[in-house]
This record gives sequence, C-alpha cells and structure tokens, in this order.
Amino acid sequence: MKCISVLGSTGSIGTQTLDVVRHNGDIEIAALAVNSNVDALLLQVKEFSPRLVCVFEEEKAKEFKEKAKLENLKCEVTWGMEGLIACACADEADIVVTAFVGMVGIRPTIEAIKAGKDIALANKETLVTAGHIIMPLAKEHKVRILPVDSEHSAIFQCLQGAQGNRPEKILLTASGGPFRGKKKSELENIRPEDALKHPNWNMGRKITIDSSTMVNKGLEVMEAKWLFDVEPDDIEVVIQPQSIIHSMIEFTDGAVIAQLGVPDMKLPIQYALYYPERRERTAKRLSFKEISSIVIDFPDNENFPALPLAYEAIGTGGTMPTVYNAVDEIAVKKFLEGKIGYTDIADLIGNEMAKHKVKLNPSLEDIIDLENNLKVSLKGYRTR
Ligand code: MG
Repeated sequence: MKCISVLGSTGSIGTQTLDVVRHNGDIEIAALAVNSNVDALLLQVKEFSPRLVCVFEEEKAKEFKEKAKLENLKCEVTWGMEGLIACACADEADIVVTAFVGMVGIRPTIEAIKAGKDIALANKETLVTAGHIIMPLAKEHKVRILPVDSEHSAIFQCLQGAQGNRPEKILLTASGGPFRGKKKSELENIRPEDALKHPNWNMGRKITIDSSTMVNKGLEVMEAKWLFDVEPDDIEVVIQPQSIIHSMIEFTDGAVIAQLGVPDMKLPIQYALYYPERRERTAKRLSFKEISSIVIDFPDNENFPALPLAYEAIGTGGTMPTVYNAVDEIAVKKFLEGKIGYTDIADLIGNEMAKHKVKLNPSLEDIIDLENNLKVSLKGYRTR
C-alpha cells in the first residue's frame, strides 16, 4: 500500500488530495500538516488516522491537542518548522504532497528529498526561489519531483511519449483570469472580492489573486524552467480562456502535443500520486459536443506587467525570483487587507526588483533572510 504525507491538508490542494485518497481507498496517510485550521484537521484525523500531525501555529497546536484528547484520537502532535519537517520526513511515507502556500514550504521539501521521499509538488515557491538547490538535490537522492500544478502536470504528461526527445518549446497555457481585456485604468479600483472570483478554477485565495494579476503564470514560467530544464525564452505563455488545454509542448519537427481535460485539480493530483499508472475517475469528462471552438489569445503585457517582470526575474536569476515571489506574497496580503490597490501589486514587485542587488547562486539562508528582510522593510507600506 502506498503511503503519503500531506503538508497543507486543509487548503484547496490538500482537501482535494484527500478526496482522491478517499475515492481510491488504497493510500495510507502517514502525516498531515496544517497552518492553523484545528477543526478541519480534527475531522481529517478521525477519517484518515495519521500517526503524526503538525499544526504550524504553536497555540493552535495546543488547542488541537486538547480537542484530540477529548475525542480520544491517537496521534503525535507537533508544531512549527520542526513539526513540518517531521511530517515531511515521516518514515512510512513514500510521497510527500507539498501543498503549503508560501516560502514556508521550502525547508520541509528539502528535508523530504534528503529523506528519499518522492515529492508531489504543489508549492510553487520551492522551485521559484530555490530551483537551483532543489533539482540537483532531487537528482542526487534519486527522488522524483511529480508536478501537481495543472500546467506542469500537462507538460509532464505530454512528455511521457517523448522517448528522450527534448521539447524545443513549452506552450504554457493561462486562462487570463477574470480581468482579461481590461486596461490598467480600469484595473485600479478592483476590489478583493472581485479578484477572488476565478472564472474556471476553484482555488485558494492567494493563487486566485495571483491568477488574476498573471503573477501565477509568471511563477509557473519559473517553475517550468526548473522542472523541465528549459530556457525561459523557450517557454511561451498562451491564453486559453476556457482552461481546456492545460499546456502543450512543441518538438523540433513542429509536432505540438497537448493535454486537454476539464479544469479539475483532482486529475493532476491523482496522476502524481499514482504515476505512471492511470486510475479511473468518475468526474465530468471533456465533451467536444459542448465545445464549439477552442479559443486562443495572447498575454497583454502592457496592462498586466507581472508576466514580463517574471521573465525579467528568471532571466536575471540568483535572488531576483525570490524578490518577485516574496514581494508578491506581501503585496497580495496587503491588497486583501485593503492597504494597497490592485495594480499596486505588480508595481510594488517591479519597484523592489529595480532596487534589488542580485546575489547569484544564493544559499537557502540567503533566500530566507531576503524574504524576512523584505517583510520588515515593507511592513508599513500602504498606498490607501
Ligand atoms: Mg497552474
């Protein structure tokens, strides 16, 4: 029987991972880690009986411990980074699903790789900021990095028949988000509740905002560079507003291979958990009778500057992708709190990138220090 640990089990990817586990009925859960959602974790522990759990916030971990005791639940309770790492390295686990949002996911991923676990990667920040550390480490420890992000899963699936032929180009699809076609002047007064409505995908709050600003696609370009060892210039973003084509690859002879399907994260999650096996899914299928045409468009880099900024960040390399990612994380939080406007998100990323003195080949400490320094220097920043 396969055994997994899920980091971020109460988030969007985490709960859908557990849906896949429930549906298939032949995967054991070694460990579950959450940030602070004690009540949702209690229900998961009752259902899946993990040996170990981590509640990242210490106070919440204590609360969980009390509640678990009252319900007679038997599991070891940990907290903080130490607890996250313990869950990532749980002995019984073959695969670790890294679905924690943010840079907090990097260290547990590194430790899981060192412990020989395959990684079902859903934490973008890991490769964006530390791809130069993660990919060689995975190679050294002979572990597989199995992409869970739908676009990267699509590329991974397209590559299955490649027989060693390398793609010349990656065509990374994007829905374009809810504000496609709008001008910067129209975007200035977008409110959080507008940006939190994604037309196709049901996702967590940060990634939904990131999808609307194109930051998510920028992070995915960087992720693709590391996962598939391609140059950023060979990754082209194509807007596919229906989210039917999940991405494509082009070979040297001009053949383009695409993966299509309904927008449903459970498919890439299940593919990663059972790779290379394909399991039955009873979910809605793609019906060509319902699709009269497949729409293709191209990114609007003038009104959505976050995507060209991402190419600039990965082109510069070193610590620049960390600035892009960390400033976005801070900016999205401020936008959701009403402290900055919608277009300020990309502007702030651009301004901080312009100020930054790049360090090439940064260590993990450099990356984490930089993130912390940016958090401190932008603490009081607001535009409204
Ligand atoms: Mg994606």
